[in-house]
Amino acid sequence: MPKNSLNTGKSEDLKTDRENIWHPFTPLLGATQPIYITHGKGIYIYTDDGREIMDAISSWWVNLHGHGNTTIAEAIAVQAKTLEHVIFAGFTHEPAILLAKNLLSILPSNQSRIFFSDNGSTAVEVALKMSFQYWHNQGIIKNKVIAFKGAYHGDTFGSMSVGSRSPFTNAFERFLFSVDFINVPTKENHAEVVKDFTELASTGEVAAFIFEPLVQAAGGMVMYDSAYLDELLSVAHRYGVVCIADEVFTGFGRTGKLFASDYLTNKPDLLAVSKGITGGALPLGVTSCSQRIAQAFTSNEVTKTFFHGHSYTANPIACSAANASFDLLVAESCQKNLAEINRQHQAFIQRIKKYSCLADIRCLGTILALELQTSDGTNYFNAIRDHIYSYFLKRNILLRPLGNVFYILPPYVIQPTELEIIYAAIIDFLDALETIPMNQS
Ligand code: PMP
Repeated sequence: MPKNSLNTGKSEDLKTDRENIWHPFTPLLGATQPIYITHGKGIYIYTDDGREIMDAISSWWVNLHGHGNTTIAEAIAVQAKTLEHVIFAGFTHEPAILLAKNLLSILPSNQSRIFFSDNGSTAVEVALKMSFQYWHNQGIIKNKVIAFKGAYHGDTFGSMSVGSRSPFTNAFERFLFSVDFINVPTKENHAEVVKDFTELASTGEVAAFIFEPLVQAAGGMVMYDSAYLDELLSVAHRYGVVCIADEVFTGFGRTGKLFASDYLTNKPDLLAVSKGITGGALPLGVTSCSQRIAQAFTSNEVTKTFFHGHSYTANPIACSAANASFDLLVAESCQKNLAEINRQHQAFIQRIKKYSCLADIRCLGTILALELQTSDGTNYFNAIRDHIYSYFLKRNILLRPLGNVFYILPPYVIQPTELEIIYAAIIDFLDALETIPMNQS
């Protein structure tokens, strides 16, 4: 039996990794060898051979307060020794109750109930199932769902169904439920989008509208104006369509406000959050809903129960990590950091807007996205993606481009001097790109 530590040597470990582990979004053949990470501190992750890599994408957008955060680590240690887990049907515990209170104190004011799951996809899945059963419990049949083109909501079947069809979903397409996809509103098309949306909503057949508020993250950090979304939400509310804000990416400060929904006047009925909820320490998903949704499940009829639950629902250790992260997030110093990151991004934009190789620069809160000019437009499989990834990694900066779009999404503890190091590397990269066009480099 293997013991709890390896002591087998790096090449043996990597052989086991290569032969026995299946990494996410990674081909089984032809992938580069994974980088062996031994520990993390602040914005840095450290390799076994002594490299210090800046995690400029918060490890797939989860990390808020830096790696190895001692406040979160201590909360985890204390909770692990007190109550590591207990079934959450018929039982409850303080970490979950405290987290529900904490979340409801910062979520949009119409939210009233918290349902726990394990990750972003399940948080979305729960929101979809709640919205469908909301109608079912009232004996009302509605078969349509509206989502945005270019959306990404996760990898489970429901969340894939409401996401854009792409090479990622090819193998599953015939198993996905059908969705009406509308354009993301822009200055040019928003009147048309509202018209299309109203046409669909007014049929009375639409059960739910799901959206990534203000930023379509995996779709290439596509940003759109809150006023346009507000208009769609007011049409949705007029026709009773249940609105689901997928804040898995945008939640917990990324957009400069605690939630992207805070930019809206019209509030969503359901929110899905995950990623930053534990500060990036442990997996946890949450779906919150308004009283309007909950009341359709408030019944003596047992068949109106929401029959959904995961073994690790409201895991006490994950909830404790989330409570510790919450305290750090709402602290004045963290809120100051969010504003400072945005101020630095805005100043940096002034320095780079002259580059003709940039097709677009997008910024909201702590998110800065740069879209490179390419001959084949935005495309996840664009060859420039690998070039950008290795260019920055060689300079010990982890950026993980979405095709020809690359972005900085730092943990909030990043120092101004550290951001400057990333900016300087980006300027070097852009300078090189303008001298040697990408297809020759
Ligand atoms: N929704 C959005 C907006 C996301 O960005 C993601 C993940 N990138 C998900 C859902 C799925 O989250 P998870 O990977 O935790 O399942």
